[in-house]
Amino acid sequence: MTSISIIIPIFNEEGNIPLLYERLSHVLQGIGSSYELIFVNDGSKDNSLVLILELAQKDEQVKYLDFSRNFGHQIAVTAGVEAAVGQTIVIIDADLQDPPELIADLYAKYQEGYEVVYAKRRKRKGETFFKKITAKLFYRLLAKITSLDIPLDTGDFRLIDRKVADILQQMPEKNKYLRGQIAWIGFRQTYVEYDRDSRHANQTGYTLGKMIGFAIDGITGFSNFPLRIATISGFAVSFIAFLLMIYALVSRFVWKDFQPGWTSTILSILFIGGIQLIAIGIIGEYIKRIADNVRDRPIYIIRDSNVDGKNDEN
Ligand code: UDP
Ligand code: MG
Repeated sequence: MTSISIIIPIFNEEGNIPLLYERLSHVLQGIGSSYELIFVNDGSKDNSLVLILELAQKDEQVKYLDFSRNFGHQIAVTAGVEAAVGQTIVIIDADLQDPPELIADLYAKYQEGYEVVYAKRRKRKGETFFKKITAKLFYRLLAKITSLDIPLDTGDFRLIDRKVADILQQMPEKNKYLRGQIAWIGFRQTYVEYDRDSRHANQTGYTLGKMIGFAIDGITGFSNFPLRIATISGFAVSFIAFLLMIYALVSRFVWKDFQPGWTSTILSILFIGGIQLIAIGIIGEYIKRIADNVRDRPIYIIRDSNVDGKNDEN
């Protein structure tokens, strides 16, 4: 029985694979449990696949999935989790920004009884100011508009228990946002701090476009706040419109200080404006409920129970 599965998404990482393999094997042999390394080749255009195939030839612990094209990092990791057979699963980047040696620390915490141990960055080396500042602002915004505790300053480098991996697979949403999903799943979670290195070789596969798409997946997957904006502004606008309407009517009928046609025009604009925003808000409320249903997540997750069939630890 395999106890540790390591998931490594690969997109153009030929310069990193040999060293990554060596460092991973060294750490895992140190831990001493059985393991598998699952390389998910996400449509690399360089020599990555050849290197992976060579490793798989000489080491039976090396498994691989080779995608038909580039499907994106989150999908690659999801495929890896689905293929993994281990009791614990570690997700790690291939570029050695996530030091493989930290897996020993993650595993030690796991043995203390935590089901999720994520790696929290103390420092980030070799990343642009733009990337750091956008990441910082984005995760703080996301924390504000969701009810979830998505840990700050973490990527996907983490260890999860088999139970968590099984529940991930019961979340059929197509737009994966794993760090949010794992936070949502719950269980006992903790972290280990580390300094994030710079990329060992090759270029980042995260273009600006991919980063924006990823951010939108995070927000829409875990917050309905944007849909609420129409409702909130609808009521605010209607309230202001109501005051202005009174002013327009008083000018027309009491002060008799008006231009012909002004009162009826301004009244209809204010009225229509408020009604339209409220109507969009109502549609938003329904879309929110449709979205919740389409995501089709489990509505609760039991960690422990003494009812027959409700406790999968038995
Ligand atoms: N990656 C992937 N598919 C992609 C982009 C990236 O599988 O479309 C992999 C990449 O090979 C690496 C991990 O995801 O193992 C993180 O990517 P990267 O280092 O480019 O992201 P960054 O650290 O710049 O956020
Ligand atoms: Mg990286």
